[in-house]
Amino acid sequence: MPGSSVKSLCDDESFSSLVMRGVLDAPAAQTFYDEIKDYTLEGDPDFDHAYTQSGSAPVYDRIKPNDCWIIPHTVSDFVCMQCLASSLKEYHALRFMKAWRQVAQPFCKSHNKLLDSFPARNSDLMNFLVQKPSSLRTTLPESILQMIACTARKIYEDLIETMHFECPAAAQKRFSSFRFLLELFLHAQSDSGGIASFYMSAPRSRNSRWQPFSWQSSFQTGAVISNALERACAIIMYHAISSDASQISIAPITSQISGFGYHYPITPESIGSLSRLVMSEVNPAVTARLHSYSEILNCSSYQRFLRGFHHDKC
Ligand SMILES: [Zn+2]
Repeated sequence: MPGSSVKSLCDDESFSSLVMRGVLDAPAAQTFYDEIKDYTLEGDPDFDHAYTQSGSAPVYDRIKPNDCWIIPHTVSDFVCMQCLASSLKEYHALRFMKAWRQVAQPFCKSHNKLLDSFPARNSDLMNFLVQKPSSLRTTLPESILQMIACTARKIYEDLIETMHFECPAAAQKRFSSFRFLLELFLHAQSDSGGIASFYMSAPRSRNSRWQPFSWQSSFQTGAVISNALERACAIIMYHAISSDASQISIAPITSQISGFGYHYPITPESIGSLSRLVMSEVNPAVTARLHSYSEILNCSSYQRFLRGFHHDKC
């Protein structure tokens, strides 16, 4: 369609991306208003309160329990470089998608790839083409990362489909267990990430200034500062402990990553015992939450995970 290039909205574009492109300041054009009239801000993750918070506030001040589990763009941008390249080529503009900021979607659905970290936003739009994005903190080759992305995507879509057939209360409880366990696997530690970061990621640099003031903030902050690989790994671990059929579906990953210096077995017992070991102390509230999910995650894998959590050894 002629004249629709730069100003065009695409379905999934985030509001901050739209603003950054200056579309709302553009001269009024009939075609633009035709396009924007059906664009709703309701449910737009850019409109959670995190968007309006100051960029200088500590990370944990920006993460509130009622957030819709979106990575604030003040923390980081995760992007699919192939989608950005296509967007530049087709529309001569960078379009940042809403879905890229969701903790539970660390993959690009179009390209079946893990998202990359985007360098600090720069007015030089071509910058990203020559500058390698920051690392996913891994030594795994691209082919295995793609396998991990595809597995995480399949698991996530299966989970959503399962919830579609459940009554709303059961679906809410299942999603609650999913979110809580992902946060447990990703939670921020004083000098490392949660267990998802040492299952498949390279070590982080030590940050001794980090002093989480409660386990909740530590869990939630870990979920938003983790990279796409760690989030994908957490989704795969959720599958490993929530489905008795999981060991077959994740076997290809387990066999591939062990050749690259990653030696932790992705079994319910080891996920449970490692989750316990990396916590400075076991909070009774965490234990109670884990036990309450036995009802909805009603399988032997989850019982094995709980046994591992209480026995402290792999
Ligand atoms: Zn893509």
